[in-house]
Amino acid sequence: MNKKIVKINNLEVGAEKIVLIAGPCAVESEQEFELDVKDLKAVDIFRGGAYKTRTSPHSFSGLGEKGIEILNKISKKYNKPFVTEITKVDLIPTYEKLVDIIQVGARSMQNFELLKALGKTNKPILLKRGFGNTIEELIYAAEYISSEGNDNIILCERGIRTFEESTRFTLDVSAIPVLKSKTPYPVIVDPSHAAGDSAYVEALTLAAIAAGADGIMIEIHSKPDQALSDKKQALKPEEYNEIILKAEKVAKAIGRYI
Ligand code: PEP
Ligand code: MN
Repeated sequence: MNKKIVKINNLEVGAEKIVLIAGPCAVESEQEFELDVKDLKAVDIFRGGAYKTRTSPHSFSGLGEKGIEILNKISKKYNKPFVTEITKVDLIPTYEKLVDIIQVGARSMQNFELLKALGKTNKPILLKRGFGNTIEELIYAAEYISSEGNDNIILCERGIRTFEESTRFTLDVSAIPVLKSKTPYPVIVDPSHAAGDSAYVEALTLAAIAAGADGIMIEIHSKPDQALSDKKQALKPEEYNEIILKAEKVAKAIGRYI
């Protein structure tokens, strides 16, 4: 199958280089976002939620428009593109103007109206697997986007719900080779939401790279215990930098680089 390489400025997702995405779960303030990302080594793309899909309606749901503004300002300052989640069709015109990569979160993977509308844009779409969805359903979700004309799609395995409760979700490593054999799209892995615990992020990162992931997306916070969302899984910037040193070695072992 012809491989699709998704281009974001000079960056190619799905080529030999393994792409690194990192940043906080949610953008909390301009100062905090900059503290989270400024010392990250080898990061290619910043991440941060502005409009969050939270399981509980009582949880912090993001800064909205102000969050997009902060993402823009700090990403420009550090000359990196950024990815942020979209929650509804109405936001598409704003995101087309201001966002580099549009993320569809696990909870929106089967929002077919949103997928079709994103298919009419030419933005790169980072499509996360729903935690209760099969690989086949993820492929159909991608086809809702591509059938409207947009094939700038990056698939993301982020853990699925199983009977196992020791981790927040169960990283489905098999999804990497299966998706790569059944679709042309690059496949990245989010070890942070899969693990739900910063202690396990390193092992899942290395496993994902060894299994052929085209990229990794990791949650960072300068002071994890004070994070407004997903604090247990957030890595400190220096912890991220340590993991990336090991990840470089795994990438090299399989003929790729970071
Ligand atoms: C996220 O990446 O910000 C997120 C909320 O993850 P997921 O949609 O996979 O739960
Ligand atoms: Mn999160």
